[in-house]
Amino acid sequence: MSETITPVNDRFGGFVSVRSRERLLDGLRQKGIDNECVLNALARVPRHDFVEEALKSRAYEDTALPIGYQQTISQPYVVALMTQLLLTGRDRLERVLEIGTGSGFQTAVLAQVCASVFSIERIGALAELAHYRLEKLGIENVSLRHGDGTNGWRTKGPFDGIMVTAAPNRVPDSLFAQLAERGVLVAPEGSNRQQRLLYWVKKNGIALRHQSIDVVFVPLQPGQA
Ligand code: SAH
Repeated sequence: MSETITPVNDRFGGFVSVRSRERLLDGLRQKGIDNECVLNALARVPRHDFVEEALKSRAYEDTALPIGYQQTISQPYVVALMTQLLLTGRDRLERVLEIGTGSGFQTAVLAQVCASVFSIERIGALAELAHYRLEKLGIENVSLRHGDGTNGWRTKGPFDGIMVTAAPNRVPDSLFAQLAERGVLVAPEGSNRQQRLLYWVKKNGIALRHQSIDVVFVPLQPGQA
């Protein structure tokens, strides 16, 4: 079957297939992503603007891709699932903390469904690039910080959602302390190769733990680079 290549509205001037984006969204629906706000957010954010030139043609495959510095941009399904878990049926959140900005793609998706996003990245070069990309796309409700996000961003909390996009062995207690009542924390937990995506919902001051799918994330590392 021949493919029509149509330019999409991206300010980086690239050309990508509209059909491949639609196919990706259909695939996400089939895998159980049913929150329309999440699907709309993914439809709005051009993933090809968050990967390097040589990988743009693969931006709408449902796979993680390298972003340099031994880090990866997460698989679209995992981005959608984590966003859906964070929303837990709600349309919108007020304040969200993301730990591990990476490419900035998940950050941009969160910015579509949250009033304010606070995101921390430990690798300076990635933080800078993400800042540039978000600015180019006109996304203004994100505050980025270069630093170690292991213990959150206390002065900006409490948050009604916290998303960790690198895997700790155990989610630090300090993050739960920054979670608002009825807030949700989503994080992968485990060792290098064996991780489970978990989410906690805070009720009456206690965070109740739930399990989701097995995942592979880069490890949450201390310090900054
Ligand atoms: N959501 C991102 C995922 C990037 S990979 C995306 O889709 O592009 C995870 C990121 O977490 C990496 O960029 C890594 O540098 C960062 N990271 C790891 N440990 C961290 C820490 N302690 N504080 C902040 N960022 C961290």
